[in-house]
Amino acid sequence: MTKIGRWFAVLGLAGVLAGGMARAGVAQNPAPDGQQAQAAATQTGAQEAYRLPPEKLAKAIALGRIRSVLHFVYALWDLGVLWLVLARGWAARLAAWTERTVRRRWLQGLAFFAVLLILLTVADLPLDGFSHQVSRAYGISVQGWGGWALDMAKALGLTVLIGSPLMLLFNGIVSRWPRRYWLWAWMAAVPLMVAGTFLSPLLEPVFNKFEPLAESNPALVAQLEKVVARTGTQIPADRMYLMKASLKTNGLNAYVSGIGATKRVVVWDTTAGRIPNDEVLFIFGHESGHYVLHHIPEGLAVSAVSAFFVFWGCAGFAGWLVRRFGPGWRVTAVGTRAGFVVLLLTVSLAGFVLEPAVNTFSRHIEHEADIYGQEAIHGIVADPQQTAVGAFNRLGEAWLEDPNPNPLIEFWTYNHPSVQQRAEFAEHYDPWANGGRGKYFAK
Ligand SMILES: [Zn+2]
Repeated sequence: MTKIGRWFAVLGLAGVLAGGMARAGVAQNPAPDGQQAQAAATQTGAQEAYRLPPEKLAKAIALGRIRSVLHFVYALWDLGVLWLVLARGWAARLAAWTERTVRRRWLQGLAFFAVLLILLTVADLPLDGFSHQVSRAYGISVQGWGGWALDMAKALGLTVLIGSPLMLLFNGIVSRWPRRYWLWAWMAAVPLMVAGTFLSPLLEPVFNKFEPLAESNPALVAQLEKVVARTGTQIPADRMYLMKASLKTNGLNAYVSGIGATKRVVVWDTTAGRIPNDEVLFIFGHESGHYVLHHIPEGLAVSAVSAFFVFWGCAGFAGWLVRRFGPGWRVTAVGTRAGFVVLLLTVSLAGFVLEPAVNTFSRHIEHEADIYGQEAIHGIVADPQQTAVGAFNRLGEAWLEDPNPNPLIEFWTYNHPSVQQRAEFAEHYDPWANGGRGKYFAK
């Protein structure tokens, strides 16, 4: 799911599978997260804003290392598998086999891409299993192997169901316009990207249970409505959901997803009711920031513009790969079925190379949402600075975030600023001191 999700993120179909770009949460993905280091802030010897008890600190450092290594192993593994599928001639053989066994051309294509997606997903299983094992060993995941396997099977089903026809569509575009296909593919990708963002919340119940937040946390909803009133978001209570995350994880999170009629705020049940309501208000304020500051449309626009250049670049590189290696791989053109695998390889590579840029943009909007969240609870909670610092400490401890991650790792892999930086900023952010005004709220 991760790998497939990554391609589609680059292809601009993010929302369809994982809701990747379209989702802006307060924590990282159920994986790590953080940001470009103000390394200096943590080296001053001053009391740090984010602190862990000693035994958790040791675990967080060890887990941070595993996460970093795993991140890059995943990327290289995926590229390696695609290369292998081409270099061993499996792509060409699979294409020939579907042509022999299936009569209709479009069915041949569907069969080819379905088998390819299954193969690529299965190739990731050892890494997926290892990740799950690590998460359980560190007490973050509480999901058993049966439930995990069921989730993987569902993800595979969705991937094949949605991914195969989409790949067939793009494959058709490439073979129909062999020269300018990247432009047509881009034009097809942009509306699909919007559709994916719109539809992704509708797929979420496949994996988790949702219920109206008001059902279990009416007092919290009443307090949240104060923040709603202050932010002018007009998020009705029926767009606030509680996700039953506690069946699977001890992590904390809340996020906003969807657009238009599917736009919603989701708070995990490990968060609502389990941490002080003031801190939930802050997290909700952060999420409201994504809403109010139009981060989802902004993210979509940025992906659309970057996809234009990515498609152009990938088309050029794929053409070169086919000229250089095509004879050995038995790939005659990018527009063939096996040729599409070459294109997937280039898109995967682009995704890996562009990751720091995507994450830098993501850290920027997450920082804006942090500012917004802290301002949004001003006048509603007693001490916005302490509330935000408290929430970050709880988030960091729940996910075992390393307080001092390697700056290069942060730069490359963190889609949120590091917890240390976020807490550090929150501790000192008081724009109203000395009669000043906030960035988003006058008072
Ligand atoms: Zn966020």
